[in-house]
Amino acid sequence: MQLKDKIAIITGAASGIGREIAIEYARAGAKVAIADLSGDAAAATAAEINAGGGTAMGVAMNVTDEAQVDAGTARVAAAWGGVDILVSNAGIQIISPIVELKFEDWKRLVAIHLDGAFLTTRAAMREMIKGGRGGSVIYMGSVHSHEASPLKAPYVAAKHGLIGLAKVVAKEGAKDRIRSNVICPGFVRTPLVDKQIPEQAKALGISEADVIRNVMLKDTVDGEFTTVQDVAQTAIFLAAFGSNALTGQSVIVSHGWCMQ
Ligand code: NAD
Repeated sequence: MQLKDKIAIITGAASGIGREIAIEYARAGAKVAIADLSGDAAAATAAEINAGGGTAMGVAMNVTDEAQVDAGTARVAAAWGGVDILVSNAGIQIISPIVELKFEDWKRLVAIHLDGAFLTTRAAMREMIKGGRGGSVIYMGSVHSHEASPLKAPYVAAKHGLIGLAKVVAKEGAKDRIRSNVICPGFVRTPLVDKQIPEQAKALGISEADVIRNVMLKDTVDGEFTTVQDVAQTAIFLAAFGSNALTGQSVIVSHGWCMQ
């Protein structure tokens, strides 16, 4: 029970990586708020956790909407008595060469990843400071926080940006014992990745099997996907860490695709 009675907000937690982090946080004793675009999907994931003996609530939250983020965070803090952990995880992917990328698509992706990270961080930090118990802010970065790939300009730019934000949060948050770190996974089989396999195959003119073998997993040490479990265990480790010694860092979980 490494996170016993901790209060966590996880964005994008109705699917994929966020969902697994929510399940594992609940198993580790945390109360988890499942924040996602669809209130119904968030409530369904929360109900599943509650049925398994955990404590969860669904919160309808578009992370790019200031009022929804502030209201959702306040609702969680009022219900459970503060906020101890934020996992800013909500994200999308758009596959396109720069010369064909629509400005509105650039703005949509950057808004979800960076505006969303800022708004949820600000709301959570205010609650953490008010609570006086410290806190942990975790961003879902990517190997693309360190490396570039073609066809992913806004994603790579936004994921690099999260590293900068995490470093500022680490510096500003230290006096209130608020730590901030970034998890940088390699490719994980979630709906986000399943959607881009055929898109990349089309854009690159290769088969879907070649996208997996020669694009996604080419530089790993063993040709394996990272799993939602790998990422969730890292998220527990970072949230449970006991001092300011581990802050302002990025932890790369990628089967050696990226080594730093
Ligand atoms: P996913 O598509 O399974 O889940 C993303 C979730 O985010 C969905 O539930 C979606 O509804 C939610 N979401 C999207 N826009 C939102 C918004 N505006 N407000 C609130 N919620 C919103 O994807 P995933 O693979 O689990 O991705 C989660 C995070 O992990 C993303 O930030 C992604 O960039 C990152 N990531 C994924 C991989 C991978 O290979 N899957 C690798 C590295 C990093």
